[in-house]
Amino acid sequence: MEDLYNLSFAFALAAAFICLSNLFFIRVQDRMGKTQNTLFVLLLFVVAINGVCNTISAFLVPYKDTSDTALFVTEVTRYLYFIFHTALAPLFFYYVSHVCGVLFRSKASFKTYLSYIFLVVSELLALTNPLTGFVYYLDDNREFTRNWGEAVIYIASAYFLIMGLYYLTSTWRALTVKRRTGILMFAAITIAGVILQLIFSKLKIELFAEAIGLTGVMMIVENEDDRLDNETGLYNRQAFLMDLESYFLNKVALHAVCIRIITPDIISRKRGADNRELVEKKVAEFLESVHEKYNIYRIGRRTFVLLVFRKTDDEVYELAKSISDRFDRPWKLVDALVMLQSSIIVADIPKQLTTLSDAIYMFDTAKPSHEEEKTIIAGDDVNKILRGSAIEKSISNGLAEGKFEVYYQPTFTTDGRRLHGAEALVRLHDDELGMIYPDEFIPVAENMGLIDAIDDFVLLDVCNMIKEEKLYEGPVDCINVNLSVVQFMKPDFVEHINGIVEQIGVDKKLINFEVTESIYASSYEILSRKIEKLQVDGFLFSMDDYGTGYSNMRALASMDLDCIKIDKSILWEAEKNELGMIILESSVRMIRQMNKAILVEGVETEEQIKLLEKLGVDYLQGFYFSKPVPKDKFLEIVKKNSAQSSSD
Ligand code: C2E
Ligand code: CA
Ligand code: CA
Repeated sequence: MEDLYNLSFAFALAAAFICLSNLFFIRVQDRMGKTQNTLFVLLLFVVAINGVCNTISAFLVPYKDTSDTALFVTEVTRYLYFIFHTALAPLFFYYVSHVCGVLFRSKASFKTYLSYIFLVVSELLALTNPLTGFVYYLDDNREFTRNWGEAVIYIASAYFLIMGLYYLTSTWRALTVKRRTGILMFAAITIAGVILQLIFSKLKIELFAEAIGLTGVMMIVENEDDRLDNETGLYNRQAFLMDLESYFLNKVALHAVCIRIITPDIISRKRGADNRELVEKKVAEFLESVHEKYNIYRIGRRTFVLLVFRKTDDEVYELAKSISDRFDRPWKLVDALVMLQSSIIVADIPKQLTTLSDAIYMFDTAKPSHEEEKTIIAGDDVNKILRGSAIEKSISNGLAEGKFEVYYQPTFTTDGRRLHGAEALVRLHDDELGMIYPDEFIPVAENMGLIDAIDDFVLLDVCNMIKEEKLYEGPVDCINVNLSVVQFMKPDFVEHINGIVEQIGVDKKLINFEVTESIYASSYEILSRKIEKLQVDGFLFSMDDYGTGYSNMRALASMDLDCIKIDKSILWEAEKNELGMIILESSVRMIRQMNKAILVEGVETEEQIKLLEKLGVDYLQGFYFSKPVPKDKFLEIVKKNSAQSSSD
């Protein structure tokens, strides 16, 4: 037994020694200084104090039965030991929750308050023990005896341990292997120490185990070398992704402020290779002066993100504004002053960015359209960018999953108001966003290079419908199909279109392609040749949106298009004012003189029809007759109209 006492003395001394050395090492290193680091220092401190206390009481064991002073000192160290040791479990819990990114970053929750209550109650019990003896007392034989307070402290510790492990597992995905191993290792070593001490109750090895465990944590978790960016000393992209993922997992509310330096490469080219790095260093330094260093990340070239906790939208905007204002003044690089331009995005997490991929898109790829005009993008502008991203996703998924659908809007003859055909208008159904209209997704699809696939899909659908439903036998003269500018420019465009229609076996006269005027503006010669070729093959062509955008008279005059579609805005203006009426009237007169068919779209009222009838417009399209409808609905309209026309 004597040996065990000596061993306990050695273990306690070693624990104190290890922790005090670790505290010294930390002092020497330049750590981030965030709460997590402070908590770790506290953990070391607590174990160090406990080690000192145990060293003293182990040393006094042989004397305490004979000397009252020795007994008194033993009691004092025991008391100190209890006060500090009681704080160990809560500290460990707060530490783990910080490593996992859970607590204190959002508004205090029920769990936070509960943890405070447990902490305060156990500490009060330990502190007041000399008066109450609730935790332990010495019995008549001067034997150490545990009381009910000890059980309460144990329950509190169990609570902290379980909650800590709970946060650890719920954040598992967002922790690097290193961090997981570090914390688990600490838990495992500590538990091993506790078990050993339970078995050999006189062997005080628990503290020594904790000290060794903390050393591991210091080397593995607290050492953040792999999270640091070499150039600026801020956190790097990897750290950003990990931290943000844990905030998402733990539903922490925060704001992200992304600062991108968008000044062209002129500086680096003009003033030597090191300047690029220097620019980033300067900006990093400035950011450190306005925000805590440990919440700043350099996520890419010239791109920084600040994570801001527990601030209102307005407060965060103010911060963004002050950063933006700094860019109105020059920056000093070695010997020269330069002006830098910034683009700042302020996003609310999780209100606006709900997933890590949202955030990556927002800060990496999103190119705000008004980058030049607005230096701070926040609120609704952020939502717009996100909507764009959602639509991009929807388009690429939609093609694979068959989420596109062709709607048909019937067209009618003015004279007799008989069914003439329909315009094929594409729709995109998204599980989350609902129906998306082409005005919104066609430009996006064009940018993504996916418009060909969509237009092909529409043409195929039209051809299949004509073939399967034998539309050529009924009142339908032609189905109008919109063509995108982009598709038109492809070298094998003519062969491609012919290929699709011939493969299904549809009379080309039944297809009327709508082309927008803006197409003609770019490369007129090539286009007119392509259109002519397709017309020779049998297709019909319409000029879409006449009267909007570039009014290219030359295109109108020298190309033999079959039909001109006057845009709805021209019709609506004509109703509103004299000048509009003159434009509509003279447009119609001019096109009639050119001997081309005229279709007016956007017809919504009986009065409009009367007007267009008087002017001599050939075809009408608009909500007055029908909105664009799904294929079945359109086929019903066809059926009704064939019955009518045969009974006429
Ligand atoms: P657009 O070619 O000018 O098509 C006419 C648009 O006006 C359609 O909008 C139609 O729903 C709407 N419209 C028709 N009549 C009325 C009316 O009486 N009142 C009102 N308020 N609106 C009316 P939609 O379907 O949203 O299409 C928008 C544009 O998207 C189209 O303009 C067209 O440029 C483009 N688009 C649609 N489908 C395709 C397609 O398959 N391929 C390509 N490349 N573009 C397409
Ligand atoms: Ca059209
Ligand atoms: Ca139009």
